[in-house]
Amino acid sequence: MSNTYSLKKDGSKKLSANFKVSEFACKDGSDSIIIDLELVKVIQKIRDHFGKAITINSAYRNATYNKKIGGASKSQHIYGKAADIVVSGVSPEKVAQYAEYLMPNKGGIGLYPSFTHIDVRANRARWKNNGKEIAVSGFAGYKEPTKKLETGNDIIWELMNGKHKIKIDDVNKAVKALDKAKDNPDFMSLYWILYKVVNGNG
Ligand SMILES: [Zn+2]
Repeated sequence: MSNTYSLKKDGSKKLSANFKVSEFACKDGSDSIIIDLELVKVIQKIRDHFGKAITINSAYRNATYNKKIGGASKSQHIYGKAADIVVSGVSPEKVAQYAEYLMPNKGGIGLYPSFTHIDVRANRARWKNNGKEIAVSGFAGYKEPTKKLETGNDIIWELMNGKHKIKIDDVNKAVKALDKAKDNPDFMSLYWILYKVVNGNG
């Protein structure tokens, strides 16, 4: 969803834990700012992951400014869906790799020598630009760290936040499932045990 803000009125308004409206403003100083909130979510996730400050070099661009700086006519920056970011002390490539992990099947990721372009378009686009834009297949390289599951809470947390979502709406079922699963070190086995118990076949 895109919102329109006023730099003057809303500039200091917080959009997420670490980002405020003014950081997304057009660099020509104009007042109107379009921001897609999905973009804010993705950038905040990158911020949280690296735990380092992010500088937004350029986010929203009105059509006039975009044309002036030679941006693509259908640039996602015009729609408030793109940001060129620098994560303090992290290479643009590492940022691209983590963005790839966050958006494997959608969005735009462009790797530039000194920043990473991130956008939340519906389709998937990947490119490198060292003076000339070249389409690439993607930015593989980030691997989710394997986390040791220690407690029942960890297991439920993994299930709720991972790809394998199951609904645990009955505490007794969850306790029973966790009791059955507690000696099993393999995550997929844990998942199936929980799934069966919660769904009534365990
Ligand atoms: Zn860009």
